[in-house]
Amino acid sequence: RTAVVLLTRDLRVHDHPALATACAAFDRVVPLFVLDPALTALSPNRTRFLHQSLAELREALRERGGDLVIRRGDPVAETIRLAREVHAEGIGLSADVSRHAHRRQERLRAECERHRLFLRLFPGLTIVDPGALRPTGGDHYRVFSPYFRAWQGVALREELAAPERVRLPDGIDPGRLPAPPKGDSPDAAPGGERVAQRRLTGWLPTLKRYDDIHDDMAGDETSRLSPYLRFGCLSPLSVANRAGGRDGPFVRQLCWRDFYYQVTDAFPEISGVAYRRGATEEWREDGEALTAWAEGRTGMPIVDAGMRQLRAEGWMHNRARLITAGHLTKTLRLDWRPGVKVFSRWLLDGDVANNSGNWQWVAGTGNDSRPYRGFNPVRQAERYDPVGAYVRRWVPELASVEGKAIHQPWRLPPEVRRTLDYPPPLEVPGADPVWLR
Ligand code: FAD
Repeated sequence: RTAVVLLTRDLRVHDHPALATACAAFDRVVPLFVLDPALTALSPNRTRFLHQSLAELREALRERGGDLVIRRGDPVAETIRLAREVHAEGIGLSADVSRHAHRRQERLRAECERHRLFLRLFPGLTIVDPGALRPTGGDHYRVFSPYFRAWQGVALREELAAPERVRLPDGIDPGRLPAPPKGDSPDAAPGGERVAQRRLTGWLPTLKRYDDIHDDMAGDETSRLSPYLRFGCLSPLSVANRAGGRDGPFVRQLCWRDFYYQVTDAFPEISGVAYRRGATEEWREDGEALTAWAEGRTGMPIVDAGMRQLRAEGWMHNRARLITAGHLTKTLRLDWRPGVKVFSRWLLDGDVANNSGNWQWVAGTGNDSRPYRGFNPVRQAERYDPVGAYVRRWVPELASVEGKAIHQPWRLPPEVRRTLDYPPPLEVPGADPVWLR
């Protein structure tokens, strides 16, 4: 008896419900990954990370007597083709929430019915399944705090060990895994389950200080686990378990991730359509300002620092994401959708639910219960980068400016300003922001 496990963004052997269940129930299991050219073109950074994660997964499966079978093309067509070739009874898959994933699941279901194969969807992408918690009178939670309270009380599945043995059917061609393409960001983190486990173990001693350090932009001590969670190199459940359960400020952040997945599951248009009914969307058109923002030349040092970290590392500190996204939408008054796209092109952790969910929150079109809150990048900078160390790291043109004066270079005496190769803040017609007065 044979089953195929289609892997997508669950690139690990540890705590993998679909893989563990298939290995326990079937004599032969084919772990399959289909390289989809339509997806791998989106972000060179993520494609590189993906390839490294696949290489590690293949190694882990080979150590267990199996292999990772690689195919190229349309995931649905290739999965069905392989399932028929190996006379599989059916296909297992970790359920996913984006519109693209919903469509893939629907197409797989239809094809499986046509070919008399079973299709079974498994948990594993989140700690609590999207759809598992529903408020009275609604299909999903729209506000975080009540979701968090419900989330903390719900029973969790058991964490699963990696399968000891994976047995492939005889004579199967495992397929070639091409060498990883070069990413765009020179300092991007490497992919893979082992790297992820090492990072988690190395970071855990910092957990007890998380509440004090998570907003210190220059200190940069958050876990940086987001790319590994994005590709499922780590199981979010096992991260929560190792972080001590469902209490504390760090695990609360993991819950934000679950929150946006359940929002996206219920509202798969999240990357293109305002989530909040009646949200005002009066965005300016200003291509030059958008490009300056994307390239880190807005003349607002804290914003430029964030955007340059994004390009250099394929990752950005959460506080910098809030500040850069707030600057685009609330100061420059430009649409959040191109912002989502710029982030998505660079971020190793970029995914539909977290990227669009957070962008909409900042833009005031999403789940924020105070969508019209004001936004002052200078105050943010003075609070979260008090001595300007984060800006100095990423905007070397300003490195000679001492103390917090670095956050407002336009206030420096003209003779000093002239020596700095740094632009004045972008102007927005009709706006008179307090920090420029
Ligand atoms: P830690 O502080 O160590 O947090 C641990 C984990 O909790 C993270 O790895 C992440 O999985 C989760 N988490 C933390 N904050 C959030 C949050 N606000 N929303 C959802 N999950 C969270 N995160 C992504 O994973 N992918 C994205 O595409 C993404 N886009 C964002 C866009 C904007 C505009 C903003 C404001 C935030 C975005 N975030 C995104 C959320 C957050 O910035 C990152 O998850 C976090 O910075 C990752 O760093 P870390 O792993 O060190 O986080």
